[in-house]
Amino acid sequence: MAYEEQRDQVLMACRAMAAQGLGTGIGGHVSVRVPGEELYWTNRLSKTFEEMELEDIVLLDFEGRSADPDVVVSPGIDFHHGIYMLRPDVNAIVHTHGFWITAQAALGREPRVLHNMATYFRGRTALAPDDEIKSIAPAMKEGDVCIIIPWHGSITFGADIAEAAALHSTLDYVARLDVTAPPGTPEMPEEHVLAVEALLEKADYLNLTWELLQRKAARAFDGTYTTPLVQP
Ligand SMILES: [Zn+2]
Repeated sequence: MAYEEQRDQVLMACRAMAAQGLGTGIGGHVSVRVPGEELYWTNRLSKTFEEMELEDIVLLDFEGRSADPDVVVSPGIDFHHGIYMLRPDVNAIVHTHGFWITAQAALGREPRVLHNMATYFRGRTALAPDDEIKSIAPAMKEGDVCIIIPWHGSITFGADIAEAAALHSTLDYVARLDVTAPPGTPEMPEEHVLAVEALLEKADYLNLTWELLQRKAARAFDGTYTTPLVQP
């Protein structure tokens, strides 16, 4: 079958999210666009990230349809092709209900800048009232990499699966900081933020994080099941 590389990337990202403790319930989804086609690979609804196998990664068109009528994906899958149509620069999307991500989303704002990595989301996060593309589209700005949906979860996306998955794992970390640091905790001063943003522009942090996530996924997958390395 063609496009196997993108299919493998979705499976690897599901296992990486599972290794990070971000996939214990039904409902998260990862997708990777098929280059040059109105198609993308994503995971079925019926299993958790921990349980995903290659046959659970299915091909959908830009109306969210599979060629196989037995394939059931999330009823909330439409924002994937919605974002792909809206943002030609986006080729991969990760959505989870990770505990800390969901706790932070309930605050209804982007994470406070309490660590260098939070600068990835500063001014590049949209707040949408629900996961429908008709709500997400007007909320999104050019250059955004994250969507926060209060009382639901978050979506990260990027030029490739390395960016989308590494940003999601990074969001989990900075969300935990935001939720657990008391109100009034000093945030990073503006000039410091600008210096960090310039540094991260040059760093290969997201690609290195994706490589780390893949190593963790490989270590956590025992041949039939992914045991989370990070407890949810
Ligand atoms: Zn969801």
